[in-house]
Amino acid sequence: MSIHTIQYESIKIEFELIRKDVKYINLRVNKHGKVVVSASKKVPLSVIKEFVEAKSLWIITHLAEIEQIRQSLPPTGFHDGKTLYYLGEAYSLVLLKGPKKIILHENSILMSSQSTTEQGLKEEYLAWLKKQATVKFEEIMTRIYPLVAPYGILRPSIQIRNMKTLWGSCTTGGHSIRLNLQLIKATENCIEQVVLHELLHFRYKNHGNDFYDALGRLMPDWKERKNALESKYRDYV
Ligand SMILES: [Zn+2]
Repeated sequence: MSIHTIQYESIKIEFELIRKDVKYINLRVNKHGKVVVSASKKVPLSVIKEFVEAKSLWIITHLAEIEQIRQSLPPTGFHDGKTLYYLGEAYSLVLLKGPKKIILHENSILMSSQSTTEQGLKEEYLAWLKKQATVKFEEIMTRIYPLVAPYGILRPSIQIRNMKTLWGSCTTGGHSIRLNLQLIKATENCIEQVVLHELLHFRYKNHGNDFYDALGRLMPDWKERKNALESKYRDYV
């Protein structure tokens, strides 16, 4: 394998050349945006370069498409410098090798870990988030519960789950509400809205007029809080 370049107008195109037993010359752009050429040993390099030059326009178009797809994908990786949300603030992840520990420092989340895989790091991070959420969600419940106490609703317990679609749900049987771990990424304003919404379901099962009347009375700006939650704070962890 060897690396070569050709020039197409002002653009330099780099390609990887693999000599192998193919009929003549094959050219492809792989999914990482690398140009790979395989050619028979008999074909001189000058001929291969001419071949690549002739395909330049096709290569450039193809690379642009790959870049566009890459940019439209959600940033799911867990890596140094990644933007993470915590209680509505954006932090930059700083990964360090060392004993398991996570601290917030200014605009950074400093995470020291022994884990070497993205998956392992993510799991450690989610476990830490859950610990923070356990404390924070109870605090918010303490603040919001008095609003619904006059409706004869008992204070429920809180379960935390990492969920893909639901922000919260309530179970009348066990008298608990289930909150999405992902909520801890949003502002306390947004979390309050979800907690109040679920609490009111103990009185009004469905999203009827009575439900929305009560919600609007107790939290007039609930809709703005809900919209903020839907549109921000996604960091794909
Ligand atoms: Zn609901």
